[in-house]
Amino acid sequence: MTPLAQRATASFGSALLPQELGGPATAQLVERVERYVARLPAMSRMALRAGLLSVTAASYLTTGRSLTRLDPDARERVLRRIAALGPDAGAAIEGLKAIVLLANGADAYAAELLDRAAEHDVARPDAALDVTASLDCPSVLRADAAVVGSGAGGAMAARTLARAGLSTVVLEEGRRWTVEEFRSTHPIDRYAGLYRGAGATIALGRPAVVLPIGRAVGGSTVVNSGTCYRPPLPVQQRWCDEFGLTLAEPDRLTGYLDDVEQTLQVAPVPLEIMGRNGRLLLDGAAALGWQAAPIPRNAPGCDACCQCAIGCPRNAKFGVHLNALPQACAHGARIVSHARAERVLHARGRAQGVRARRPDGTTIDVLADTVVVAAGATETPGLLCRSGLGGHPRLGRNLALHPAVALAGRFDHEVTAWRGVLQSAAVDELHAVHGVLIEATSTPPGMGSMVFPGYGAELLGWLDRAAHVATFGAMVADRGAGRVFSVGGETLLRYNIARGDAAKLVTALEAMGKLLFAAGAVEVLTGLPAAPTVASLPALQDLLARSSPKRLHLAAFHPTGTAAAGSDAQHCPVDPRGRLRGVDGVWVADASILPSCPEVNPQMSIMALALAVADEIVADRQV
Ligand SMILES: Cc1cc2nc3c(=O)[nH]c(=O)nc-3n(C[C@H](O)[C@H](O)[C@H](O)COP(=O)(O)OP(=O)(O)OC[C@H]3O[C@@H](n4cnc5c(N)ncnc54)[C@H](O)[C@@H]3O)c2cc1C
Repeated sequence: MTPLAQRATASFGSALLPQELGGPATAQLVERVERYVARLPAMSRMALRAGLLSVTAASYLTTGRSLTRLDPDARERVLRRIAALGPDAGAAIEGLKAIVLLANGADAYAAELLDRAAEHDVARPDAALDVTASLDCPSVLRADAAVVGSGAGGAMAARTLARAGLSTVVLEEGRRWTVEEFRSTHPIDRYAGLYRGAGATIALGRPAVVLPIGRAVGGSTVVNSGTCYRPPLPVQQRWCDEFGLTLAEPDRLTGYLDDVEQTLQVAPVPLEIMGRNGRLLLDGAAALGWQAAPIPRNAPGCDACCQCAIGCPRNAKFGVHLNALPQACAHGARIVSHARAERVLHARGRAQGVRARRPDGTTIDVLADTVVVAAGATETPGLLCRSGLGGHPRLGRNLALHPAVALAGRFDHEVTAWRGVLQSAAVDELHAVHGVLIEATSTPPGMGSMVFPGYGAELLGWLDRAAHVATFGAMVADRGAGRVFSVGGETLLRYNIARGDAAKLVTALEAMGKLLFAAGAVEVLTGLPAAPTVASLPALQDLLARSSPKRLHLAAFHPTGTAAAGSDAQHCPVDPRGRLRGVDGVWVADASILPSCPEVNPQMSIMALALAVADEIVADRQV
């Protein structure tokens, strides 16, 4: 970090968490932030530094002094004044705040988090995987099938292909993580290392949407919360009837979903380990007479250390790196890590393999006449475009995010939301009619402080009361209003939420408010600048009626639909069997092929469809 950037971080930090009022020592805060910022991609780092320097400049312009020379109240006023300039300035300050709080909180709680991991033995050892780093691989490999991406879709597809006797090579851009690393690595290094772009991916729009995406052997299943829902029957029916996606025909999909559930060992969260955050959701629902239940998860042996999002330190969360991938390897599949697929090789309308780049810039070719692209909904379109296979006008479009909003509530008693299962209980009362699914969701210790309002003394007060706060999240079934595109080889995302979906988010916030107050919350943290906290449901309803959805803080974890599969050649880049249109031998088997938002957490839908696509590949090769 340059001395100028350090000073700008110190200034902002001193306004956000003033040392004089009990915040961390400035030098320590700068170190904590730098640890994370150093891992950001260059563009994000530049944007962050520009933001911090703008705050410094704003202080000079409005007070004639640097932030650090002002007293804590005056510093806080500077931040408030900038945030009040308009939605963009407000969002920029919130973005800076989120990064500083993430880095600060992760370090402040690092010892507790690692101690918690060490309290219990691992639930299971690391799986036997045949993984070789690309630098240790020959430049040319030959196989029957090359699979790009080792996440939910890629792993399931690779397993079927390997079991059918096809020599299979899985190319994965990320690396393999071991359980020992999850038990001993600092949380911010786990976060920065396990996510694409250090977890700072954003879909541009109003409001922008924070969109973390996993990158590791095992893909996003290594960092996901383990929630396992089957796609609702009406969704399966719609995929089948409206989109002609015969793979999703309910009778057929059921068999694949059964297989996925068995592979992942899905079971509801036991009440004994759920924790207070989830129990409050169930209490609130019971008081309202709403349908609610513990969430079915793939985490056999989970002891609720609440670290799923940065890699399970007990190997209890049962991502595909612990089941489908080792099962594929047992049948001869090989995984090449640190291999970023650059292009699908093809000639005369037929797949010939995949060229991937190693970290040192050299290339490795996997020559195969079957290519399965499973790089995830945000990366698959770019790979196909780079390969000269991006001719379909709908490729990269139709991006649904299943956007989420959070609402937190303060209770008189301790909740300690991070002592319990990270995503533990769900309310589906509003699901069928409004497409709103509410889930009690916490974050790893210290990594969720961005829900707290204010700056300076107010924010520090909230950090002191963090143990009294419960957090719920709600996702809404959305239209595919977004788009993925590439600029200079980098993936960019654009998503402007549809008006109807924004209205659903407001419905979701109101419903979560009802649940929190019904469970006994004394106030609710709204995340809205007009009234960051409210003490009653009518006050929340009034606030929501007055607030623009553009001021909501949105996050999303479930991108889908950017290479939709279906029978309509005009609308669907992928055919109903999973083949990319316009070329032979290129198949797609990841979140991209879902024709619409699955309306629930999607991993089971993706895995089941990937199994179905893989069976089509095997059938095709047998003809
Ligand atoms: C924090 C978080 C929490 C979540 N929680 C849940 C949950 O509780 N339940 C649920 O159902 N879903 C959850 N999800 C979503 C779910 O994990 C994903 O929808 C699912 O894993 C997507 O599957 P996929 O195969 O499309 O992509 P991924 O699983 O993301 O796998 C894609 C893989 O491809 C690799 N890749 C990308 N580009 C290239 C390239 N060019 N070359 C080589 N490799 C490449 C990536 O590194 C990645 O490893 C969560 C997601 C996140 C991020």
